[in-house]
This record gives sequence, C-alpha cells and structure tokens, in this order.
Amino acid sequence: MLRIDILTIFPEILENVFTTSMLKIAAEKDALEVHLHDIRDYTTNKHKRVDDRPFGGGPGMVLCCQPVIDAITAVRAMSDVEGRLIFTGPDGNTFNQSYAQEFSEEERIIFVCGRYEGFDQRIFEILQPEIFSIGDYVLTGGELAAAVMADAAARLIPGVLGHDQSAVEESFSLNTEHGGALLDYPHYTQPANYEGLEVPEILRGGNHKLINEWRLERSLEKTKKIRPDLLK
Ligand code: SAM
Repeated sequence: MLRIDILTIFPEILENVFTTSMLKIAAEKDALEVHLHDIRDYTTNKHKRVDDRPFGGGPGMVLCCQPVIDAITAVRAMSDVEGRLIFTGPDGNTFNQSYAQEFSEEERIIFVCGRYEGFDQRIFEILQPEIFSIGDYVLTGGELAAAVMADAAARLIPGVLGHDQSAVEESFSLNTEHGGALLDYPHYTQPANYEGLEVPEILRGGNHKLINEWRLERSLEKTKKIRPDLLK
C-alpha cells in the first residue's frame, strides 16, 4: 500500500484525478491511498494569506515559510511512516520511469505543490526535501506534476493493472530480450482491415514466438528512429 499526501493551495484541481479509472481501482484494491491537503488551512495569517512579495523586488509572489512548514509538519504526523518528502519544481531531478518504479515501492510519499514564483528558499534549507521536475518547461503550479508522478507510480504497484505484463511490456520498461529500455511496439485491435489497412499477418497467426520477435523488432526500429539515446 502506497500512501500519497499532496499539499497544495488548490486541492480542487486534483479532486477528480484520483477518483477515476485506474487510480480509483488502485484505491479500491487497497494499493493506493491519496489525501489532499490545503496549505491555506495551516496559515496563521488572519486574511488566510500564504504568499507575499519577494524581497529584492521583481515579479510574482512567493509562498511563505510558516504555512508551508506547518502544513508539512501536521501532515507528516498523520501517519507513523515518515515517507519521502518531494517538492515539485522545474529545478528538480527529472522524473522518469525508473523513479516511477522506485516511488511505487514506497510506503508513503508527500508531494508539495508550488505556485506563483515558488517557495521561500528557507523552506528547502529547513526541510531538506527532494525536488522533482516532470520536464524542462514551466507549469503554473505543481499540482499537475504531482498528479503525473502519482499516476505513473500507482499503476506500477503490483496488482493495480489488470494484466501484470502490461507494465513490463511498455515504453521505457526493461525489455528482457533486448536487455534495455525500449519504446513500445505498435498495437492493433478489431477490425483486422480498416479502410484497406490490414493488421500485420503475423499478429493474427497465433505463433507467439514469431509475434514476440516481430514486436521486439518494431520496438527496436521505433526506438532507433525516435529515441536513439535510449539505445546507448
Ligand atoms: N520561478 C520558478 C522557476 O522559474 O523555476 C517557477 C515557478 S512555477 C511558475 C510554480 C510552481 O509550479 C513551482 O513552484 C512548481 O511547484 C511547479 N512547477 C512548474 N514547472 C514544473 C515542472 N516542470 N515540474 C514540476 N513542477 C513544476
């Protein structure tokens, strides 16, 4: 069971993410438990403010130490497992499938979502969190980044996907025959002929050895063309 706590000033953004489709199934199978927390509930400011102008001037607002640190302290105490504290930020480690696998094996992860210009630097100095980015671009907030990481991790928890091979035979996962991480092979379903485009004969023949060889070749071909860096 993985417990995920997400701290944000906009919990409503994430309300439907974890109650739909695979993530809902993960919760029903007791593989995943997600708790959303509003950082604003922890501010001592009488106007419920959680941000202020940056020292030194410049655009935007900065999330203040008090509400963020108090929210994290309170949320951490909600379980005996301390868990990994992960801030979302474009300046963090880039999240990938290996991290998704690593996160799926954790007991607890606490994601903290930034907004505006981000967090007061002293929050990082005091809490020493890990920081994760979902790519080299800037989002308006960390909620989508936390959802991406939670989704990628949750589907790798054993038993969550209907067919355990689903998570093994897909892009970026270790391809055992090749010994490396490849992009996925092409998939086809009914009808066998769509407007003159035929499903490759080999996939309809029922010879699983040939099917596996065909799929590995297509994966290698696609990876070489689109992501040659994965083959190095
Ligand atoms: N001032 C920051 C900078 O230039 O690096 C950008 C802050 S961004 C507008 C607001 C928040 O969105 C960040 O604190 C972080 O939580 C989230 N965020 C933005 N881009 C992200 C990314 N690529 N990965 C993860 N989180 C991101």
